[in-house]
Amino acid sequence: MNRIFDEEKGGRVLAFGAHPDDLEVGAGGLLARLVEEGAQVTMAVVSVPNRAEERTREAHRGAKLIGAQLFIVYEEKQCRVEDIPMHELVRRFDHLVDEVKPDLVITHSAHDLHWDHGLVNRATVSALRRTPCDLLAYLSSPEMNAQSRSLGQCFADVSSTIERKIDAISAHASQLSNLDLESSRDLARAMGRISGYAYAEAYEALRVRI
Ligand SMILES: [Zn+2]
Repeated sequence: MNRIFDEEKGGRVLAFGAHPDDLEVGAGGLLARLVEEGAQVTMAVVSVPNRAEERTREAHRGAKLIGAQLFIVYEEKQCRVEDIPMHELVRRFDHLVDEVKPDLVITHSAHDLHWDHGLVNRATVSALRRTPCDLLAYLSSPEMNAQSRSLGQCFADVSSTIERKIDAISAHASQLSNLDLESSRDLARAMGRISGYAYAEAYEALRVRI
């Protein structure tokens, strides 16, 4: 397993998810690992589309299990991402990028089949137009994205954090009927088989500085 950031300095990571639970499902293992390696991780959830109070509480619990700071981009109102004008979404992402000054940003893939997830990808890429940082993209739901063209060209070893990832997904109790914990574990095992780890998450490398 390679370290992602320098041991002394750590690193700053900003991760975007359209809704509560997307980041846990798509990137929870890597985010927990980055925390373990000393990075400061901010999980930015764009909107809470329904059951605001309960789902916000679950999002806090999920982020806490990962060891990340949670930031809800549209905390003031319950809305869907597609209801937010793109320029306004980009402006809010701009502020967050200015504040966090990330070394690495993780966001939804443009190949994600959920419309809101694709919009978050566009807004992220746009907000990073002047920021030199690495950028990885994830697919958030293994079942929903089984037909997507993207599988990823970059694999993160999450063997040490797979249990924390599953716990963080389980924090979203109100969504458990939609979330398949075994699928998440199976997918991590399959990605590990491809990459030579016990468990892995697949990413698209949109921008990587070597
Ligand atoms: Zn979502």
